[in-house]
Amino acid sequence: MSESIQSLRKANKYTDRRCDECHRQTDGLSSLCKLHLRRRGKLGSVRVTRQLRHRDYAFLVGIATKYLKKNPPQSNIIESMLRFLQPPGMVRPITRKQELLITEMSRWSDPRYRNKWTDHGGYRRKANYTPTGILAVLIAVKAHVEERDGVGFPHDSEDFAMMFALTRLWRRPRSLSRGMKNAKYSSKVSKTVLTGLVKRWREYTMVGVYVLQTARAILAEYRASEAERIKSLPKTYTQEEMRKMYEVQQAERRKREEAEAKAKRIVIDIPSLFDRKDEPKLPPVPEPEPFDPGSRPVNDGSAPAAAAIMKWCKDMERWQKHLREKATT
Ligand SMILES: [Zn+2]
Repeated sequence: MSESIQSLRKANKYTDRRCDECHRQTDGLSSLCKLHLRRRGKLGSVRVTRQLRHRDYAFLVGIATKYLKKNPPQSNIIESMLRFLQPPGMVRPITRKQELLITEMSRWSDPRYRNKWTDHGGYRRKANYTPTGILAVLIAVKAHVEERDGVGFPHDSEDFAMMFALTRLWRRPRSLSRGMKNAKYSSKVSKTVLTGLVKRWREYTMVGVYVLQTARAILAEYRASEAERIKSLPKTYTQEEMRKMYEVQQAERRKREEAEAKAKRIVIDIPSLFDRKDEPKLPPVPEPEPFDPGSRPVNDGSAPAAAAIMKWCKDMERWQKHLREKATT
């Protein structure tokens, strides 16, 4: 069968078939290019570009752990979770895909593949491989997705993200392949294993519902505690207070700048010599009494005429005001 697919690929190598996502040429058979096939296979959606990182939801694991300590899951949830974590017993002969999944899952009960420590968003904690400890991680991922209203998790990527988070709780066999001297990174989780786990997870609907409800509960609790925390923070200033503070600051700055400017001044001008605070000030020049300005000056278009008209308008305005005031008293 694999031979026939290979020969089909070869035969269709030059068929013009474009990727649904990026319009690149595909192998002639598939509706997706290699990149987008890989994304769909490993991330659950052609739209998702990377796996969810532990640091994205680590602090939520801490919150979920605390919540589960206060509200332990019921025994039927624990039992169902234990069944989910057990590798499926397959009727032989098993397929290669089933074998890969069983191999992955059988490591989960092997102490050699367990981590000693994990972190809950900056805090080092002993890794917890009980059903409750594993549920806390799944709840944290779910809460992370719920917090974003599913934005960024199209198609099947939400369940893929959960199952990926599950697989990374254990150490994975380290591969020496790809010509690396120090193969520091463990082998990647195959799309076969992730797809198999997603399918298996979806069969455990009761645990699925429990995870969703608990995720919502911890989010609600977390938001409430955040609101409390913000309320207890030192009082913030109102706009009016900020304006007053700004004005005081500005007045001080002006005073300082004036003093500096005075100190720097070399040429002492006459007014500054007499710039004495106690010096009596001249009374302001009294304005002349309003008077009837007569008829409007002729506008011949010249600048003096325009100035004369402006002055006349002012005088007339004052005269009218004076008349009005006299009429009312
Ligand atoms: Zn593509």
